[in-house]
Amino acid sequence: MSEDKNEILTIEKPEGRRKCPSCGEENKNMIHEETDKTQIIMDYPKVYGKKYKCGKCGTYWKERSQ
Ligand SMILES: [Zn+2]
Repeated sequence: MSEDKNEILTIEKPEGRRKCPSCGEENKNMIHEETDKTQIIMDYPKVYGKKYKCGKCGTYWKERSQ
């Protein structure tokens, strides 16, 4: 068990540039988008949420959509 989804930060969707909520990294090459299979947006067709990982400090976070 390496995944602890309770540890993932959830932030409001940013207006402008996406940045790391922990260290403030804004370089999009450092922010990796991943599929979050724990978050199902639609059942059919299957659509999953997204999560982001900061390549600088390793923080994972999600954005709340509204
Ligand atoms: Zn960071």
